[in-house]
Amino acid sequence: MNAELDLGLERRIGKRSAAVIEKHLGITTVGGLLNYFPRRYLSRGELTPISEVPLDEEVTLIARVVSNSTRAMRARRGTLTDVVITDDSATKHNSQGSAGRLPGAGVPGTLKVSFFNGYRAKAELLPGRRALFSGKVTRYAGSLSLTNPDFQLLDEDPDTPGMDPEKLAAMPIPIYPATAKLTSWSIQKVISTLLDTVDLDVLDDPLPADVSAREKFLPAAEAYRLIHTPQVPGDWQRARDRFRYQEALVLQSALARRRAQLAAEEATARRPVTDGILTAFDRQLPFTLTAGQSAVGKTLAEELSQDSPMNRLLQGEVGSGKTIVALRAMLQVVDAGGQAALLAPTEVLAAQHFESIRRTLGPLSRVGLLGGSGPDSVQVTLLTGSMPTAARRQAMLDAASGTAGIVIGTHALLSDNVSFYDLGLIVVDEQHRFGVEQRDALRAKASKPPHLLVMTATPIPRTVAMTVFGDLETSVLDELPAGRAPISTHVVGLAENPGWAGRIWSRSREEIDAGHQVYVVCPKIGEDDDGDFSPGEAEPSAAELEGDGPARELASVTAVVEHLNDEPALAGVSVAPLHGRQDPVLKSATMASFTANETKLLVSTTVIEVGVDVHNATLMVILDADRFGISQLHQLRGRVGRGGLPGTCLLVTTLEPGHPSRRRLDAVAATTDGFELSQEDLKLRREGDILGASQSGGRSALKLLRVLEHESVISKARQDAQRIVARDPGLTEHSALAKAIEEYLNPEKEAFLERG
Ligand code: ADP
Ligand code: MG
Repeated sequence: MNAELDLGLERRIGKRSAAVIEKHLGITTVGGLLNYFPRRYLSRGELTPISEVPLDEEVTLIARVVSNSTRAMRARRGTLTDVVITDDSATKHNSQGSAGRLPGAGVPGTLKVSFFNGYRAKAELLPGRRALFSGKVTRYAGSLSLTNPDFQLLDEDPDTPGMDPEKLAAMPIPIYPATAKLTSWSIQKVISTLLDTVDLDVLDDPLPADVSAREKFLPAAEAYRLIHTPQVPGDWQRARDRFRYQEALVLQSALARRRAQLAAEEATARRPVTDGILTAFDRQLPFTLTAGQSAVGKTLAEELSQDSPMNRLLQGEVGSGKTIVALRAMLQVVDAGGQAALLAPTEVLAAQHFESIRRTLGPLSRVGLLGGSGPDSVQVTLLTGSMPTAARRQAMLDAASGTAGIVIGTHALLSDNVSFYDLGLIVVDEQHRFGVEQRDALRAKASKPPHLLVMTATPIPRTVAMTVFGDLETSVLDELPAGRAPISTHVVGLAENPGWAGRIWSRSREEIDAGHQVYVVCPKIGEDDDGDFSPGEAEPSAAELEGDGPARELASVTAVVEHLNDEPALAGVSVAPLHGRQDPVLKSATMASFTANETKLLVSTTVIEVGVDVHNATLMVILDADRFGISQLHQLRGRVGRGGLPGTCLLVTTLEPGHPSRRRLDAVAATTDGFELSQEDLKLRREGDILGASQSGGRSALKLLRVLEHESVISKARQDAQRIVARDPGLTEHSALAKAIEEYLNPEKEAFLERG
């Protein structure tokens, strides 16, 4: 019986403990606490004395706090908390010889620990307290430091009196995700009490018996015991393997059920016609489709012809030609009498799509206000929030009346007063900027569920696709169109070669003299702002965490434009700024002038990151490139080398060679394979970032599963889930699994499933 899991905690551990658990962990039921797993395990043997900590390796140490101080950072928003710790381990010489500047730092047996926005560290790591720290020790500016480590206050000694010392040394110490007021040790104690009072053997198992037998998994009861109170090394691994699989199966079953539900919905079939706009379009295409484009096109054509909605994710390398594939799908829908909407993440990109789709369609497109829907052309309409009222109203009328066959826009398309006559297909471009709510708002704009095509800006690893976009079928475009020129990428280190600063501009001049154009990308708009960053996009670098170097002045669009106006190498060159805070009319005018090859050098923020397509641009200069993430850099450089002209990308940095943040730049310079880079990128990020914004505030929705590490678990679970849901769509014969899914899908996690 799983009623036991729903039982109030007070019934099993007493009122007082239950109140504490509810207050600090928000957990009220037996099942909730049983499933509150340790985050990791330590064995006493693993502890490293501070005097012997190795560089660049994960270490765990128990230490006492000597001092704690917090200050504002100079180069960016936020605070830095420095904590000096000691384990009193070394009166002998500290071979690493740190020479810090803080009280206590630099003394052998002590270590400086830095926290970026470390509110918990500030509040908890008070002088005299003992805690367990784990993280990677690095050396910066000659002293050793531990940056943003995990830590765990130790208010009581974990040692169990009277235990055989050898057994004790081997016994893993479970470390629970704790809070400021409730330590891991107290949680551990309460859970031990729970394990003593609950009859675990009555619990139903969400894992089907055949799966458990095949994988030789522990029974649920024993797994709960071993995950919380492992006795010997190896215990918790076996328990964890089982729960990890369970988590994957629950997640994949939820996704499989959602796929089945979506597939059961009724959509309008949009079958291809023999002599429509699509046929005419294919006839006038100036190039041949790549094999990948044809294959994906065929899949889309078939799915659009069904009367159940297409739900497909199209992944492709930067420049692989996703837009044409989407456009052809849109034309099929238009030919069949429906409308298509294309959603872009920014106004710049929406306007670019509008221009380039009209250009690509040529005589097949109409923008005019006159004339009804002819069979030989399609009206393409732009609808964005910043359009003048009259134009905007006209665009809305055209969408509502069906005059507009293709409507291109930003989230403005989602506002309540926009309606469509017969919306048949939604294409979401560069998906990572779009949330669930937006997608659902758009779907709600059609009387029957429209077909949906989601395109990612960068390729993502297979397992990420299977989890984050698990309710969508996936297609991949893995080849670039022929004649695509290679992009060569170079790291320009100004720290070791200050003279190269001038060389960048003479290099730009050479490109421009050869008739080409140049992008210059800056991390900031003006002298005193944070640029077009969304928060958390770039990790703070060690230099900033360190905070005691001179504050670094980052390149800003305004300062660079000013500088370039006085730069002799660029005398007479037309330079224009572009950034997110400009008036939209100015923005589109600037883009138009760059597209028309009037503006030769564009200085911008990352507004050009996605999708902007100017064939004549051959050089991309990214200033303070260390401020950008790997995927961002890869996207940015994809803006050049598009028109058969070889592209060059210069990643300019003032950081010293060997600085940790330069590793990202080296990675980007080393390969142009987007899959490889996104894997690398995701490794450097936290799991929460993979799962998206809704998770980033709290803990990751996934407890034991790591999408990058557990590929085989995820694919196996996906197959099992597919099979289970196909045989038992209502999960009536899998009630424990159904219940586990229900628990899994609290509203926040539901949002996670619907992402896409
Ligand atoms: P992305 O996948 O990054 O969105 P785009 O759709 O913007 O790529 O395509 C990049 C460029 O390649 C566009 O200028 C497009 O016209 C061109 N292109 C697309 N398909 C082909 C092809 N089969 N052959 C040649 N050029 C192509
Ligand atoms: Mg694109």
